[in-house]
Amino acid sequence: MTAEKIRRLKCACCGGEAGHWQQWHNQDTGWGLCRTCADWIMSQPSTRTYHNELASPLQFCRTYGLPGKNYEPRYQRHCGLDFAIVASFPNRVKGTSDANEFMALFRGTSVLGIFGDQIILAMKDDIGRKPVEPESQA
Ligand SMILES: [Zn+2]
Repeated sequence: MTAEKIRRLKCACCGGEAGHWQQWHNQDTGWGLCRTCADWIMSQPSTRTYHNELASPLQFCRTYGLPGKNYEPRYQRHCGLDFAIVASFPNRVKGTSDANEFMALFRGTSVLGIFGDQIILAMKDDIGRKPVEPESQA
């Protein structure tokens, strides 16, 4: 596996800083997505006239790439370590089938575990990282 270049990206949604991540092929060079916009896009509800396809982790990751590789992830604490959440699905029949479809498309992903009522996927090569301690108040 070749090491892919990490570069500074701007957010294609708000124009702000998106951090230092790998370029996703589906975005223009130099453009990525910031965490705030990622949360906003995924939280937009579908309406009768507009189905928010990007609320689906599969469509979202096809468009923007994978959290932890192409933009800032959220983390799941597991065994005292933090793992970048690649995708999460409701732990029900549809969610299980969607998670399987996701893992079939993004081959480097696997199930980290079931947390609450969510199936959490992470990268297979994610070995976790020590939690960042909150800064102590002086
Ligand atoms: Zn943004």
